Amino acid sequence: MQQELGNEISHVAPHDPAENALFETLSRIEHDLNDVIGALVLLGVKRCSQCKQFFRSADPGVLFDCGQLVCYTCVPVWWPSQSMRLGVADRERTEGKLASWLRKYHRAEVVKMTPGNLTDTTDAEFQMVAKCLECAGSGKLMEGERCRFCNGLGTVRIIVPR
Ligand SMILES: [Zn+2]
Ligand SMILES: [Zn+2]
Repeated sequence: MQQELGNEISHVAPHDPAENALFETLSRIEHDLNDVIGALVLLGVKRCSQCKQFFRSADPGVLFDCGQLVCYTCVPVWWPSQSMRLGVADRERTEGKLASWLRKYHRAEVVKMTPGNLTDTTDAEFQMVAKCLECAGSGKLMEGERCRFCNGLGTVRIIVPR
Protein backbone atom coordinates (compact mmCIF):
# COMPACT_ATOMS: atom_id res chain seq x y z
CA MET A 1 0.00 0.00 0.00
CA GLN A 2 2.73 2.36 1.01
CA GLN A 3 4.61 1.42 -2.14
CA GLU A 4 1.60 2.14 -4.40
CA LEU A 5 1.04 5.52 -2.88
CA GLY A 6 4.68 6.36 -3.43
CA ASN A 7 4.41 5.44 -7.12
CA GLU A 8 1.35 7.56 -7.59
CA ILE A 9 3.01 10.59 -6.13
CA SER A 10 6.01 10.26 -8.40
CA HIS A 11 3.66 9.95 -11.43
CA VAL A 12 1.86 13.19 -10.73
CA ALA A 13 5.04 15.05 -9.86
CA PRO A 14 4.78 18.31 -11.83
CA HIS A 15 8.00 18.24 -13.80
CA ASP A 16 11.13 16.32 -14.11
CA PRO A 17 13.93 18.83 -13.38
CA ALA A 18 15.73 17.76 -16.54
CA GLU A 19 12.57 18.42 -18.58
CA ASN A 20 12.21 21.79 -16.95
CA ALA A 21 15.75 22.75 -17.88
CA LEU A 22 15.15 21.66 -21.46
CA PHE A 23 11.94 23.66 -21.62
CA GLU A 24 13.70 26.74 -20.30
CA THR A 25 16.50 26.35 -22.84
CA LEU A 26 13.99 26.00 -25.67
CA SER A 27 12.04 29.08 -24.64
CA ARG A 28 15.27 31.04 -24.38
CA ILE A 29 16.29 29.92 -27.88
CA GLU A 30 12.86 30.79 -29.23
CA HIS A 31 13.08 34.20 -27.61
CA ASP A 32 16.57 34.81 -29.03
CA LEU A 33 15.43 33.69 -32.46
CA ASN A 34 12.54 36.14 -32.42
CA ASP A 35 14.98 38.88 -31.45
CA VAL A 36 17.22 37.94 -34.37
CA ILE A 37 14.29 37.96 -36.80
CA GLY A 38 13.29 41.37 -35.42
CA ALA A 39 16.85 42.60 -35.97
CA LEU A 40 16.80 41.30 -39.55
CA VAL A 41 13.62 43.27 -40.22
CA LEU A 42 15.42 46.38 -38.98
CA LEU A 43 18.20 45.63 -41.44
CA GLY A 44 15.69 45.40 -44.25
CA VAL A 45 15.51 41.64 -44.43
CA LYS A 46 12.07 40.07 -44.48
CA ARG A 47 10.83 36.55 -44.47
CA CYS A 48 8.34 34.79 -46.73
CA SER A 49 5.46 33.42 -44.67
CA GLN A 50 5.27 30.35 -46.91
CA CYS A 51 8.78 29.05 -47.64
CA LYS A 52 10.37 30.85 -44.64
CA GLN A 53 13.20 32.15 -46.77
CA PHE A 54 14.71 35.53 -46.02
CA PHE A 55 14.83 38.27 -48.63
CA ARG A 56 16.19 41.77 -48.80
CA SER A 57 13.13 43.97 -48.75
CA ALA A 58 14.82 46.76 -50.73
CA ASP A 59 13.35 45.23 -53.89
CA PRO A 60 9.56 45.61 -53.63
CA GLY A 61 9.02 42.99 -56.35
CA VAL A 62 10.43 40.20 -54.23
CA LEU A 63 7.81 39.95 -51.52
CA PHE A 64 4.11 40.57 -51.91
CA ASP A 65 2.76 42.22 -48.78
CA CYS A 66 -0.92 41.80 -47.94
CA GLY A 67 -0.62 41.61 -44.18
CA GLN A 68 1.40 38.43 -44.63
CA LEU A 69 4.51 38.39 -46.80
CA VAL A 70 4.67 36.01 -49.73
CA CYS A 71 7.65 35.76 -52.06
CA TYR A 72 7.14 35.79 -55.80
CA THR A 73 8.06 32.11 -56.10
CA CYS A 74 5.38 31.12 -53.59
CA VAL A 75 2.60 33.27 -55.07
CA PRO A 76 1.38 30.73 -57.69
CA VAL A 77 0.84 28.08 -55.01
CA TRP A 78 -0.27 30.42 -52.26
CA TRP A 79 -2.83 32.52 -54.11
CA PRO A 80 -5.26 29.78 -55.29
CA SER A 81 -5.60 28.34 -51.78
CA GLN A 82 -5.62 31.76 -50.10
CA SER A 83 -8.30 33.12 -52.43
CA MET A 84 -10.59 30.21 -51.50
CA ARG A 85 -10.12 30.93 -47.82
CA LEU A 86 -10.97 34.64 -47.98
CA GLY A 87 -14.40 36.22 -47.90
CA VAL A 88 -15.55 38.12 -51.00
CA ALA A 89 -14.51 41.59 -49.81
CA ASP A 90 -11.08 40.47 -48.60
CA ARG A 91 -10.51 38.40 -51.68
CA GLU A 92 -11.29 41.27 -54.03
CA ARG A 93 -9.06 43.63 -52.09
CA THR A 94 -6.11 41.22 -52.03
CA GLU A 95 -6.72 40.18 -55.63
CA GLY A 96 -6.60 43.81 -56.78
CA LYS A 97 -3.44 44.42 -54.80
CA LEU A 98 -1.80 41.29 -56.17
CA ALA A 99 -2.80 42.13 -59.73
CA SER A 100 -1.28 45.61 -59.55
CA TRP A 101 1.85 44.27 -57.82
CA LEU A 102 2.29 41.74 -60.63
CA ARG A 103 1.79 44.44 -63.25
CA LYS A 104 4.17 46.83 -61.55
CA TYR A 105 7.04 44.45 -60.81
CA HIS A 106 6.60 41.36 -62.96
CA ARG A 107 5.52 42.65 -66.36
CA ALA A 108 2.07 41.14 -65.94
CA GLU A 109 -0.39 41.91 -68.69
CA VAL A 110 -4.12 42.37 -68.49
CA VAL A 111 -5.78 40.08 -70.99
CA LYS A 112 -9.45 40.08 -71.90
CA MET A 113 -11.25 36.85 -71.35
CA THR A 114 -13.04 35.86 -74.50
CA PRO A 115 -15.83 33.37 -74.01
CA GLY A 116 -15.13 30.20 -75.91
CA ASN A 117 -11.62 31.25 -76.70
CA LEU A 118 -9.09 30.15 -74.16
CA THR A 119 -6.26 32.31 -75.37
CA ASP A 120 -2.84 30.79 -75.44
CA THR A 121 -1.74 31.02 -71.84
CA THR A 122 0.49 27.96 -71.74
CA ASP A 123 3.39 30.36 -71.91
CA ALA A 124 2.42 32.12 -68.70
CA GLU A 125 4.53 31.87 -65.61
CA PHE A 126 1.54 32.71 -63.51
CA GLN A 127 -1.99 33.79 -64.24
CA MET A 128 -4.97 34.79 -62.20
CA VAL A 129 -8.45 36.13 -62.73
CA ALA A 130 -9.13 39.58 -61.34
CA LYS A 131 -11.94 42.09 -61.35
CA CYS A 132 -11.81 44.49 -64.29
CA LEU A 133 -10.69 47.86 -62.94
CA GLU A 134 -12.18 49.84 -65.82
CA CYS A 135 -15.77 48.90 -65.00
CA ALA A 136 -15.17 47.87 -61.35
CA GLY A 137 -16.31 44.37 -62.20
CA SER A 138 -19.75 45.39 -63.47
CA GLY A 139 -19.01 44.64 -67.12
CA LYS A 140 -20.63 47.95 -68.04
CA LEU A 141 -19.26 51.41 -68.64
CA MET A 142 -20.96 54.63 -67.58
CA GLU A 143 -23.40 54.83 -70.45
CA GLY A 144 -24.44 51.26 -69.83
CA GLU A 145 -22.48 50.05 -72.80
CA ARG A 146 -20.53 46.84 -72.57
CA CYS A 147 -17.07 47.33 -71.07
CA ARG A 148 -14.58 46.91 -73.85
CA PHE A 149 -11.71 46.19 -71.46
CA CYS A 150 -13.25 42.93 -70.27
CA ASN A 151 -15.77 42.18 -73.03
CA GLY A 152 -18.53 42.86 -70.52
CA LEU A 153 -17.51 39.94 -68.33
CA GLY A 154 -16.36 42.07 -65.39
CA THR A 155 -13.21 40.01 -64.99
CA VAL A 156 -9.90 39.93 -66.78
CA ARG A 157 -6.94 37.61 -66.75
CA ILE A 158 -3.67 38.83 -65.29
CA ILE A 159 -0.85 37.03 -67.00
CA VAL A 160 2.81 37.06 -66.09
CA PRO A 161 4.74 36.01 -69.18
CA ARG A 162 7.48 33.49 -68.74
ZN1 LIG B 1 8.32 31.96 -50.39
ZN1 LIG C 1 -14.62 45.84 -67.54
